[in-house]
Amino acid sequence: MSQTSLLLERLGALIQQSVRDDAARHGLLPIHIQVLHYLVRANRYSDLPIAIAEYFGITRGTVSQTLAVLERKGLLTKESDARHGKRLHLKLTPAGESVLSESWVERVEEALSERAIEAVALESTLRNLLSAMQRVNGQRAFGLCRQCAHFLTEESGARCGLTHEALATEQTDRICREWTAVTSERS
Ligand code: SF4
Repeated sequence: MSQTSLLLERLGALIQQSVRDDAARHGLLPIHIQVLHYLVRANRYSDLPIAIAEYFGITRGTVSQTLAVLERKGLLTKESDARHGKRLHLKLTPAGESVLSESWVERVEEALSERAIEAVALESTLRNLLSAMQRVNGQRAFGLCRQCAHFLTEESGARCGLTHEALATEQTDRICREWTAVTSERS
C-alpha cells in the first residue's frame, strides 16, 4: 500500500469516528448525520430520496427509514414542488441545522484554514481522485453546479442548460445529481 492510500485510509477512519461521535451526541446513527450534511449542500434537483440513495449507494428502503427517523425527530420536512406534481423536496428544519453545528466538518475546515494555499491544491487533487474512483464504481459524480458543463451565465442570471430553468444564485453553490464534467473541447 502506498503512503497516499494509507493516509486516505487513516483520514477516512478518523472522519468515520468523528461522524459516529457527532451522531451519538444527538442520539442518531451516522447515516442520519450524513444525510443531513448532504441535504444542506444539495440543489433542488438533488434534495430528493432517489438522489440520497444514489449519493450514498444505499437502497430506497434504507433511505425511507432514515428520512422517517429524521422527520419524526423534527430535523427535516418535506415540501411539495410547485411545478412537478408529486415530487417532494427535503429541507432541514432549524433543529436539523443546529445538529450540524460544531460537527466534524467545522473541525476539518479549521485545520484546512491554517493551510490555505495547500488546501486549494488538495481540493483539486481530491476532486480528480474522487472522479476517477466514481467512474470505476459507476457512480454519479454529484459536482458543484457552477462547475458543470450545463451551467450557463446569461444577462438575466444563471441558467441550467440541461433543464433550461433559471438558477437562483444560492443554488449555484450546491451539488447536483445531474452534474456533468466540462470536457477539454467545451472549456
Ligand atoms: S447546470 Fe449542471 S449542476 Fe447545475 S442544475 Fe444544471 S445539471 Fe445540475
